[in-house]
Amino acid sequence: MALIVQKYGGTSMGSPERIRNVARRVARWKALGHQLVVVVSAMSGETNRLLALAKDVSPNPEPRELDVMVSTGEQVSIALLSMALNDIGVKARSYTGAQVKILTDSTFTKARILDIEEANMRRDLEGGTVIIVAGFQGVDELGNITTLGRGGSDTSGVALAAALKADECQIYTDVDGVYTTDPRIVPEARKLDHVTFEEMLEMASLGSKVLQIRSVEFAGKYKVKLRVLSSFEEEGKETLGTLITFEEDSKMEQPIISGIAFNRDEAKLTVLGVPDRPGIAYQILGTIADANIDVDMIIQNVGHDGTTDFSFTVNRGEYPRALKILDEQVKPHVGARAVVGDNKICKVSAVGVGMRSHPGVASKMFRTLAEEGINIQMISTSEIKISVVVDEKYLELAVRILHKAFELDQPTV
Ligand code: ADP
Ligand code: ASP
Ligand code: MG
Repeated sequence: MALIVQKYGGTSMGSPERIRNVARRVARWKALGHQLVVVVSAMSGETNRLLALAKDVSPNPEPRELDVMVSTGEQVSIALLSMALNDIGVKARSYTGAQVKILTDSTFTKARILDIEEANMRRDLEGGTVIIVAGFQGVDELGNITTLGRGGSDTSGVALAAALKADECQIYTDVDGVYTTDPRIVPEARKLDHVTFEEMLEMASLGSKVLQIRSVEFAGKYKVKLRVLSSFEEEGKETLGTLITFEEDSKMEQPIISGIAFNRDEAKLTVLGVPDRPGIAYQILGTIADANIDVDMIIQNVGHDGTTDFSFTVNRGEYPRALKILDEQVKPHVGARAVVGDNKICKVSAVGVGMRSHPGVASKMFRTLAEEGINIQMISTSEIKISVVVDEKYLELAVRILHKAFELDQPTV
């Protein structure tokens, strides 16, 4: 008997028929004698619907109230799945985040999990009950409802698996695993049987929405056995999806590049003509950090005539605020010439642990983009990834040609 945590995303829970389908899958695992904790998302479209409703009522809603509202989507899902399971003779009980006591900090709309109480769940599990937990939500120490950021049910699932020391955490979604790139953009993308934890972490942080980045961080920290699978495969035809492996466990030679990730949610800001002297980067980015805006890529050009240009990227949602701060606070303070911005950019990245031991990946990437006339605006690298910022209109083209150039559409031998 194993303890398994399963997470079902919005599409998998998207209609009454699909919810009954999830219930049948859970029932099959239960019939094999396993203990099951099932984490679910809101039905697809519901979180967006609720957020749009809030915007219709209030232009600038309070984050605390947004969380009270947006967490209802998952609350509906847990009750529906419990009903569907009870209907087919499987004892099930639903829990909100607060009922489990998934304790988080109080950063509304992007809270972090601090602790999970096991006692209630253990009691039910030992009595043979399937536990259905609302993903994406928690509670702070004052009893306020919090949410974990978009896609946060993945993190709920992995955090529960870590807390309960589950044998496996299965993330059921609308694709049958992690692919070399988003199969919606490149139909030739290939499913990976394994991906290393480090690569998955990079892919998630660089925009592959198949797993929320914090879920991958949890899996790494607590060594959770994590698998991504399809909830749409028929009984008897299920495949094993993609297993996230830890490099030291893997004896196989790693491919140079495992995947291409992309992110359309970024915007670029440039402060032109800042004095080329110590402390400038700190003054610019310190002011941005004080406003709680995360910065991603950074470039400072070589100084010329005593001045330089300084560029960085932020999440697109923060673009208007960052632009205003630079214009009103940074520009007069540092004596910059002008502030310009561009929110029609995207970031495309090649990820692979094999890059460490194979030079030439960057030059191949740059040549491939140059051959199609795609201008690179910014570059950043780590040991296992190379990212470029390009005009948003080239996103699909860039992803497709890089996928092909690195032969990701070819089966590995
Ligand atoms: P869920 O609602 O189950 O959480 P998501 O929409 O959050 O599902 O994540 C699944 C989607 O992630 C897929 O439909 C796919 O379009 C997208 N995706 C992006 N990058 C990848 C990738 N490398 N491999 C697989 N899917 C990816
Ligand atoms: N329902 C939430 C969202 O749409 C959480 C999730 O699906 O993981 O972001
Ligand atoms: Mg998701």
